[in-house]
Amino acid sequence: MLSRKRMPSFEFEAPVTQIIQRTKYAKSVRFRRPDQFDYLPGQWILLTLGRGDERKTKPFSLSSSPSEDFLEVTKRLTGHEFSNALDNLTVGEVAFIRGPNGNFTFHGEYDKVCMLAGGIGITPQRSMIRYTTDRGLKTNIILLYSNRYEDAIPFADDFDDMQRHNQKLKVFITISRPSQEWKGQTGRITKQLIESKAPDYQQRVFYTSGPPLMVDAMQKILSDLGLPETQIKQENFLGY
Ligand SMILES: Cc1cc2nc3c(=O)[nH]c(=O)nc-3n(C[C@H](O)[C@H](O)[C@H](O)COP(=O)(O)OP(=O)(O)OC[C@H]3O[C@@H](n4cnc5c(N)ncnc54)[C@H](O)[C@@H]3O)c2cc1C
Repeated sequence: MLSRKRMPSFEFEAPVTQIIQRTKYAKSVRFRRPDQFDYLPGQWILLTLGRGDERKTKPFSLSSSPSEDFLEVTKRLTGHEFSNALDNLTVGEVAFIRGPNGNFTFHGEYDKVCMLAGGIGITPQRSMIRYTTDRGLKTNIILLYSNRYEDAIPFADDFDDMQRHNQKLKVFITISRPSQEWKGQTGRITKQLIESKAPDYQQRVFYTSGPPLMVDAMQKILSDLGLPETQIKQENFLGY
């Protein structure tokens, strides 16, 4: 298991090694991982794109896991300047990365956790779940993952794969704007959904990440459920 010690911060040139269109609205970009770069699942980096006056920097949670030999960020495509620069990256181009940063991490320190994510907020949780699965850790994980459309769920295949390999992982997807064909759970993440899918919620540590509106909504539900602050970990994607 990774140690809790602070990871040293690095700044380095990172060539793009692979680009994956996750959904119509989200893209992953993989970068070469330097040998000396270590991080905890859930941490974020500063990504700089462009040259000279055109340089722009934004924070991104790493959607990759320390158990993987690449670094990956996954961005919701917004049509804005930085988003377009990321969308236009090609393999072999070089970006700059500084990090790792942040305390929103999980690497097996609790027996039972519940993760709550909406859309792109999944990125640090994907890192944590991939790490737990690759390392064969015994943590019991319930992920409640809400998305607007059933055909635009970032990492849907990856979570299917992880569930096959990790008996301790249960993923529940809920869709807020389902098509007629969708037979699964519908709507957003609610108090009732948590009570029904994670009835032992009082024994779980909760992780929630994403745009502030989502994180605030989850915080309110968890407070209504009577969970103390010590049982709630959050990462706010400020900037959205
Ligand atoms: C710790 C951390 C981790 C993060 N991890 C991720 C991640 O994994 N994936 C991810 O996608 N993002 C992540 N973010 C957010 C990311 O840094 C960006 O802020 C975000 O992706 C939006 O960037 P953008 O350039 O596409 O949009 P921006 O141009 O920065 O726009 C952001 C918001 O402002 C609004 N806006 C922008 N311009 C205007 C305008 N002229 N008029 C009105 N509204 C406007 C947009 O509608 C949008 O809602 C993270 C943030 C933090 C702090």
